Amino acid sequence: MSHSKGRLYVISGPSGTGKGTICGEILKDIRNEFSVSMTTREPREGEVHGREYFFVTHEEFEVNIGRNNFLEYATVFDNYYGTPKDIVLKKLEKGRNVILDIDVQGGLQVKAAMPEAVMIFLLPPSLTELRKRLENRGTETPEKIEKRLSKAVDEIKFIGEYDYMVVNENLEEAVATVRSIMTAEAARIPDKVLPIIRKYEQEQKGE
Ligand code: 5GP
Repeated sequence: MSHSKGRLYVISGPSGTGKGTICGEILKDIRNEFSVSMTTREPREGEVHGREYFFVTHEEFEVNIGRNNFLEYATVFDNYYGTPKDIVLKKLEKGRNVILDIDVQGGLQVKAAMPEAVMIFLLPPSLTELRKRLENRGTETPEKIEKRLSKAVDEIKFIGEYDYMVVNENLEEAVATVRSIMTAEAARIPDKVLPIIRKYEQEQKGE
């Protein structure tokens, strides 16, 4: 049986929608791996270098841009965020599914570079609910919350570029929906069907 490559999943959606929590659930399946991004933002309490992000300086980030090391990168809330290219490609080559939790600007760059990427957009039930969640998270100042809400509406305008939308009204249901999407994508007929046909032909011929 031919060794099929893993699938690349882009998960975008307004900050506070629950992307991190949903990704955490999806990553309990050992076939799925998270792509740790590089960022110039300060670590939040509890965040670990190399786990949530690779935390670097502006200068280090720009060296990586110069070396063409990113699959995509963008400026989000005044900081750089980028997806290291080689790590992602190696994981896919090994047959792992790779999950990118990135913003819409980055998602569109990935789609352009790798059109086979599966694009999932997470939505909050409403902006009021999103505001509540951001306030409860308690990690951002009121001014930053306003920025994130305004970016949310800007991001939602690009939903037509995505393949699937999942409204995170109830965490368990949202996770179940994302899992179903992944199950369906794994069952999608690949571009190269010859190895599948050959397998059955060979069996028929008794090879
Ligand atoms: P946070 O600062 O809350 O961890 O992330 C802010 C936003 O940046 C989120 O929407 C997150 O999805 C996005 N983000 C995280 N990593 C990347 C990345 O590598 N590239 C891009 N384009 N966005 C990212």
